[in-house]
Amino acid sequence: MSSTAILTRLSEEEDIFRGSVREFARNEIGPHVSRMDREMKIDAALVKKLFELGLMGIEIPENLGGAGATFFMSVLAVEELSRVDPSVGVMVDVQNTLVNNALVRWGTEEQKTRYLSRLATDTVGAYALSEPDSGSDAFALSCRAVPDGDSYRLTGTKLWITNGGEAGIFIVFATVDPDAGYRGITAFLVERDFEGFTVGKKEDKLGIRASSTTELILSGARVPRANVLGEVGKGYKIAIETLNEGRIGIGAQMIGAASGALEHAMAYTKERKAFGKPIAEFQGVQFQLAQAATELEAARLLVYNAARLRDAGEPFLVEAAMAKLFSSQVAERVTSQAIELYGGYGYTKDFPVEKYWRDAKIGAIYEGTSNLQLQTIAKYLLKD
Ligand SMILES: Cc1cc2nc3c(=O)[nH]c(=O)nc-3n(C[C@H](O)[C@H](O)[C@H](O)COP(=O)(O)OP(=O)(O)OC[C@H]3O[C@@H](n4cnc5c(N)ncnc54)[C@H](O)[C@@H]3O)c2cc1C
Repeated sequence: MSSTAILTRLSEEEDIFRGSVREFARNEIGPHVSRMDREMKIDAALVKKLFELGLMGIEIPENLGGAGATFFMSVLAVEELSRVDPSVGVMVDVQNTLVNNALVRWGTEEQKTRYLSRLATDTVGAYALSEPDSGSDAFALSCRAVPDGDSYRLTGTKLWITNGGEAGIFIVFATVDPDAGYRGITAFLVERDFEGFTVGKKEDKLGIRASSTTELILSGARVPRANVLGEVGKGYKIAIETLNEGRIGIGAQMIGAASGALEHAMAYTKERKAFGKPIAEFQGVQFQLAQAATELEAARLLVYNAARLRDAGEPFLVEAAMAKLFSSQVAERVTSQAIELYGGYGYTKDFPVEKYWRDAKIGAIYEGTSNLQLQTIAKYLLKD
């Protein structure tokens, strides 16, 4: 990548890809968004189409059925899907930036052949780190893994697991030695039908309601030793590194949500009349739109920069934290502004903007709360 590269200029391949995801989102997801939000479920037929379009295996090598594309393409896909429905956006995000990514980087050849080929073609994945008593303090997790012959037995509860309702493959973090602190944490590949593993309660949420968020119950779940991902005791490294990348995907989800809300607001303000003219002709309204568009552009530049750094093999830790922090703040502001520009109508479920606002709230919470992003940035600033 040249040092003078323009961040928002897409290659021909990226541009064609973004166009096709945009069209798909508008035509095939758009008509179902409000119903899926009400029903708290992404249509199974839609999930199937995500696989058919290659959106569930963007970085998976072509010989395993994936698209063999870049991380930046995943970011473009998440942004475009979230512009229409951030619930679909996060399903694709978790699949690509966390689950597939961890397997591509740490899977054995055998694990890659077995699992990545399914994740590229028909199986949703989930990433299970959080527990009822450990979220920000992720490495205080208590899920326990005990060796048992050629297997491990996993016992504990995972909470808030995105895609839990649909997933067939779960990356589950557990400790093989609670006294070893983070050095005991190990990542396991768990299949939905493994003995002793069940998907529990589904959360009834404020936003991204169609995205399933579930509890996972491990009651001595039997996981073959061959399903340890990476090394025993090195799960913390997998968690840290995948979440650093996943954060950029959440940034993409947030700029997508903000773009969707702003587009609706722009169209509405050209149509809605007050004092004898479209409200878009009032300078006060124009300035609100201009402010929102400017903040959105700044957030997009942060997200694209972090993604391009990652693809270039450059350090991106701070840039990713800044991208997630800022894009989630911008998404909250822009989606809130969109509601105000719709007036009373914006406050109802008959119009799309209230949903974007509800959906935007999650950006400050998952994959590291805003405070945790600030902590990462501050640590970098103050290091000797
Ligand atoms: C919809 C949804 C989907 C999710 N999906 C997944 C998933 O797929 N996989 C997964 O593993 N997890 C998932 N999570 C969990 C998510 O990552 C955690 O909720 C998040 O990390 C925060 O943890 P917590 O909820 O335990 O909050 P806590 O850690 O209890 O934080 C509560 C508050 O304290 C603040 N705080 C905590 N520690 C500090 C500190 N040191 N300094 C300053 N402030 C601090 C936080 O910023 C926050 O404001 C999901 C959560 C939700 C809501």
